[in-house]
Amino acid sequence: MPKSNGPSRRRSFHAVNVAVIGLGRFGSSLAQELVKGGHQVLGIDNDDKIVQSLAGELTHVVTADTTDEETLKELGLADLDCAVVAIGADLEASILTTSLLLQIGVKQLWVKANSTAHGRILEQIGAHHVIFPEYEMGRRVAHMVTGESLDYVQIDEDFVMVKSVCPESFDGKTLAELKIRSTYKVTVVAVNHGDGVYDPAFPETKLKSGDLLVVAGGKLALSEFVQVQ
Ligand code: ATP
Repeated sequence: MPKSNGPSRRRSFHAVNVAVIGLGRFGSSLAQELVKGGHQVLGIDNDDKIVQSLAGELTHVVTADTTDEETLKELGLADLDCAVVAIGADLEASILTTSLLLQIGVKQLWVKANSTAHGRILEQIGAHHVIFPEYEMGRRVAHMVTGESLDYVQIDEDFVMVKSVCPESFDGKTLAELKIRSTYKVTVVAVNHGDGVYDPAFPETKLKSGDLLVVAGGKLALSEFVQVQ
């Protein structure tokens, strides 16, 4: 009898069926990234030129005004796993589309907001997830332009991940020797020794000055950590 390898450590891939409504800069790049990830994407926009330009790239495209209830119902969006409303500038179209999608029972609805007031209204009408790409990207870039980190991703209110350069004082030492967790109250998650590969970090991982580190922790602890020379 063949020996069992035990439970698979990889989660099986699940392609998601998603509708992206509004194929502007945000919606189109989101839709293209989903297709790259192997997902089924229905792209919808009321501008036929935009729709035609993406026809070969997305799984399906439709030219439609999503503020029209009958049109939305005909598209059968309730059967999809989720939908993203990426209409930002036209507040009325964003709110109407969101409200109609909730009414027809879309399972998971993500909506882009262009302002805090816009976001508040979307939350009040019941959007499941409200996202603020401009604010989030602004915060991220702020930490990069100061040279503080090479990348910055906020996971939660006080939990962030940064990409930073290994300081000279760490050269030739292992993470265990440096007592990173107890000294700096942060966790080094992965290390790139300059070959483009991010290896998971272990206590015995030896650092070299100039290595790229992915580090996770609270905001204050991380801002102190990235200043170590
Ligand atoms: P981005 O910053 O992503 O380029 P934006 O925040 O400026 O977009 P808009 O330009 O308002 O947002 O909308 C994005 C897309 O949504 C546009 O391509 C627009 O044609 C489309 N759109 C706007 N209203 C509707 C609608 N009622 N039905 C379908 N698509 C719509």
